[in-house]
Amino acid sequence: MRALNIIRWKSVVCSVPKTTSIRHSSHLSSFKDSLHAAKNVVIISGEDISSESGLPTYGSNEHWRKYQALSLATSGAFLTFPSLVWEFHHHRREIATQAQPNETHKAIAQFEEKYGSDKSITVITQSIDGLHARAGTKNLIELHGSLFKTRCIRCNEVLTNNDSPICEVLANKGSPDIQDTHSDIPEKLLPHCSCSGLLRPHIVWFGESLEPSVVEKAEEAISTCEVCLVIGSAASVFPGAIYASDAIQRGAIAAEFNNSPSSIVEFHYFFEGPYSRTVSEALGL
Ligand SMILES: [Zn+2]
Repeated sequence: MRALNIIRWKSVVCSVPKTTSIRHSSHLSSFKDSLHAAKNVVIISGEDISSESGLPTYGSNEHWRKYQALSLATSGAFLTFPSLVWEFHHHRREIATQAQPNETHKAIAQFEEKYGSDKSITVITQSIDGLHARAGTKNLIELHGSLFKTRCIRCNEVLTNNDSPICEVLANKGSPDIQDTHSDIPEKLLPHCSCSGLLRPHIVWFGESLEPSVVEKAEEAISTCEVCLVIGSAASVFPGAIYASDAIQRGAIAAEFNNSPSSIVEFHYFFEGPYSRTVSEALGL
């Protein structure tokens, strides 16, 4: 079992040994045969799975107002500028609330509903927007947490919170307009726990460790899967690269759905094109 203390870093590309003996193929019927025969299936999705729902990925090049978005996704930024960081995450919550699960989210949920009695199907996602769950996926591991959960910085209680806005003072706040430079909401008016501690989004920010119990569940699913699908950009960075590589080394069949093939992990199958088409076809829906 891999060491559990896995840190999330900005734009990390993993040094996964490239597997060179696997033939790249887009042969759909062959992949579907493998998927049909498998009893244990893992689907890994990156944030890009929500691009067809109109949600930005907030990667290393994206900005919110004048700030590099990733610089607002750290515990240091939160402790120094809680008002600004809450405005940014409130903005993300609101646009995620208004977005709808797309055809790919729905196809994955339908696959679980249709075949879940015959197969163990686990979805491991880096996405924090809650759209997998809203599409109906049940066996879901949110590696990086959720925009719709809070954690108290005093007592550590984690709670689901779908309120819009999450607190009164954030109503009409969070505009991404570059002209908005100030954020001066008094800390006492930001979301608070019943113990009076300040709440933060329950998200694995950059430089923080993934929750050991979450990593353990993900690794358990990877350790038994016979077929692994990686959808979105997850194959080029952690954990898509590590998990897919682990699955391949164990003998699992692995397929990548992306705009271009991963340069790190060589999958058995690569399916290019809109996820809404390629994923539905591959899942046999
Ligand atoms: Zn508390």
